[in-house]
Amino acid sequence: MFDGFAFDRLFIGGEWVKPLGGGVRPSIDPATGAPWGDVAFGGARDIDRAVAAAKAAFEGPWRAMPPWERAALLRNFADLYATQVDALAQIETRDNGRAIRESRGDIGLHSQYYHWFASLADKLGGRTIPMDDSVHAFTTRHPVGVVGAITPWNVPMMAAAWKLGPALAAGCTVVLKPAESTPASSLALAKLFEAAGFPPGVVNVVPGDGTVAGARLVEHPDVAKISFTGEGSTAKTILKTGADTLTRCTFELGGKAPHIIFADADIENALNAATGSAWALCGQSCALGSRVLVERSIYDRVVEAFRERAGRVRVGMPLDPATHMGPQAHAQQLDKTLSYVGIGRDEGAQLVAGGNRIDRDGLTGGYFVEPTVFADVRADMRIAQEEIFGPVAAIIPFDGEDEAVRIANSTPYGLAAGLWSSDTGRAHRVAARIEAGMVWVNTYRYIRWSTPYGGVKQSGWGRENGLEGLDPFLETKTTIIST
Ligand code: NAD
Repeated sequence: MFDGFAFDRLFIGGEWVKPLGGGVRPSIDPATGAPWGDVAFGGARDIDRAVAAAKAAFEGPWRAMPPWERAALLRNFADLYATQVDALAQIETRDNGRAIRESRGDIGLHSQYYHWFASLADKLGGRTIPMDDSVHAFTTRHPVGVVGAITPWNVPMMAAAWKLGPALAAGCTVVLKPAESTPASSLALAKLFEAAGFPPGVVNVVPGDGTVAGARLVEHPDVAKISFTGEGSTAKTILKTGADTLTRCTFELGGKAPHIIFADADIENALNAATGSAWALCGQSCALGSRVLVERSIYDRVVEAFRERAGRVRVGMPLDPATHMGPQAHAQQLDKTLSYVGIGRDEGAQLVAGGNRIDRDGLTGGYFVEPTVFADVRADMRIAQEEIFGPVAAIIPFDGEDEAVRIANSTPYGLAAGLWSSDTGRAHRVAARIEAGMVWVNTYRYIRWSTPYGGVKQSGWGRENGLEGLDPFLETKTTIIST
């Protein structure tokens, strides 16, 4: 379906159009540092066109369509998506360097997210409210309108699925703006929406600079809601930009998840999850357990296991199915990761594995970095407080539940946490005290379309997925009738 597909057009109002602003730019393959294709970049005028198309669709065919027909279209799309997993995975891996085995695994699940939200489209009823005998009160639920979906570079297709699935099921129309360094897969997504038969303007895709296209989407008076995934600092800018229009926002932001391993845990399972999570997506995922909190009696064993397993990670070209870990997604992220290695050393943490850019074995020119492990990390060090977003594990010893909880809660973030213990009482006690939107016990990063996902503190506002994931795209109207 994507053979010969050109990424040099925007998808607006059901048409493939040349950008009015921005132009066409090369997209860089992070495995080589060289361009792999040309992609259309829109400017403010393109966003205006896209919002106008989304508004016309919202007020026209999309609103008029019964919810079961909307659901059927979304199911068509989901079925088509399932047939294109390999092609989409190749495009995403080309753009962000994620190992193809990871891209396939993740993208292979997305059609089920779309199916699940499709199944809810005709079940969004309200409720009746008891009043007195002469008054009848009830609620109805309505789509908020045009949604601006702004996505990050680490998981562009997943972020799109988590936003477009519920937005379309709720009856909203969408303008999707992907991140600068990974725009291609979102244009491929537009091609699938077109092929699935969506009315023009229901889904529009405009890659572009965040400070230009993204900012225009946020300030546009006809955009009812921004669904954003990215950095906290960008979310704060979005709040200021959207202040005049009081645009509703939900935010999926960064994390510094603690992975807490008690001495009574199944250590082998805990290690498999903790090491796997430290280096998945080359460390570029918000919920990875980048802080590993280890009870002191098993501390040396865990540090040694991390050191040894870091050496076994197969770093390589991301399109090679044998590769575990590809490059960092762009040059700035590579610099950021390496700078944190320096910060960790300066702070006095012990570097037990990795720490270097990889510049050998055919990987020259790509943004490859070694799986990295710091031991003897203190909770107040910057490498334990700040989101690095690279394959850098910070191992911190603790004594007892109280200290584990204190360290776990000591960052500004609160997205996710992992906890390993064979003591059920302890698991409940500690899970209840951890400040995070998600706590996994004796498992890690297991999520599905039905499980709400999102953070507390500076990790976000609102939830994606689950029934809660629909709420941000709906308004409740209360009607009270005196008879
Ligand atoms: P980013 O904030 O730099 O960019 C995200 C998006 O915002 C991009 O599309 C960008 O173009 C756009 N943008 C930038 N400036 C803007 C502005 N002024 N107005 C409107 N839009 C603007 O984030 P990133 O570097 O692409 O992504 C990495 C971050 O995303 C990390 O912090 C990571 O933890 C977070 N993340 C969170 C989740 C989650 O579900 N909580 C999932 C994935 C990534």
